[in-house]
Amino acid sequence: MSAVALARTGQAMPLVGFGLWKVPRPICADTVYNAIKAGYRLFDGAGDYGNEKEAGEGVRRALTDGLVKREELFITSKLWNTFHAKEHVKVLAEKQLGLWGLDYFDLFLVHFPIALAYVDPNHRYPPEWWGDDGKSVTLQDTPMQETWTCMEELVDLGLAKNIGISNCQGSLIIDMLRYARIKPQVLQIELHPYLTQEAIVKLCKELGIAITAYSSFGPQGYYELSMDRGATSLFKVDAVTTVASKHGKSPAQVLLRWATQRDIAVVPKASGPERAVENLKSDGFELSAEEMKAISALNCDLRMNDPADIDPRLGIF
Ligand code: NAD
Repeated sequence: MSAVALARTGQAMPLVGFGLWKVPRPICADTVYNAIKAGYRLFDGAGDYGNEKEAGEGVRRALTDGLVKREELFITSKLWNTFHAKEHVKVLAEKQLGLWGLDYFDLFLVHFPIALAYVDPNHRYPPEWWGDDGKSVTLQDTPMQETWTCMEELVDLGLAKNIGISNCQGSLIIDMLRYARIKPQVLQIELHPYLTQEAIVKLCKELGIAITAYSSFGPQGYYELSMDRGATSLFKVDAVTTVASKHGKSPAQVLLRWATQRDIAVVPKASGPERAVENLKSDGFELSAEEMKAISALNCDLRMNDPADIDPRLGIF
């Protein structure tokens, strides 16, 4: 399976993984188990997805059944916004590892660079964006430097092999490098042909930070949330379908390959076993430079997932 070597540790991060956002709890353990059986080695989880316990059950069953060894898996999770303060980062990482039933994460990311007021996990977990009223959002004055220093301690303690960030702009990354003892190894961002993010991709390449694209299918995962911003499905646009028929591949495979061919990792979420296999088998062909260019030309800087700037529910911003 193709992988990208992370700069500090040299650890291989598979280029195609399985995203766990919106995988319902009752089917999550089987989904993860079957995905491992199908050949997936990377799982992209988060405290916010609310299914870490079930995902961990799937992993542990696969380990017990001898399908894989722990060191062959690459488990990613993320620290939620309400746990950015120095007294919470390690506590939450340990809680999340406990849910997964694991000793370490291969990669632990700061989910958003937006610190929110602490919510006691015994009161509500995962806490999501809003307060008890389901509407209000309360920011907290925890700078990224405080959170990042605690993330570095997770590496020192062996709780995370690699640490990284998500949903950050280039300017914040440049600032982080002024104080980071351990550089962010990975940046996970929304990236698809409607949002090609060329500048930050170039910046990260220069800085030795690997990129994971999320929402590789653009609006597809957002239709069910009415967060698609009226965008046409990327599975239906000519630039993608023409290339797909030429290569005898599905539009989904073309969209994934458009990223992985440039060493940008992807973590699509498939809702059934056939699609999971289809997505995993997306790296056995090459798009020509013209095909890559034609797909990239779809860029219109259309971002589906940017709560700080566009989600009207977060009116505080
Ligand atoms: P996605 O781009 O993976 O699209 C998912 C949608 O595409 C689902 O509706 C699914 O049924 C459909 N689909 C999957 N495979 C298909 C195929 N082969 N053919 C046709 N349809 C197919 O969307 P996503 O869930 O937004 O992103 C994937 C993962 O990225 C998430 O599960 C999560 O792990 C990660 N993510 C991270 C963040 C973050 O803030 N860091 C935000 C969003 C998503």
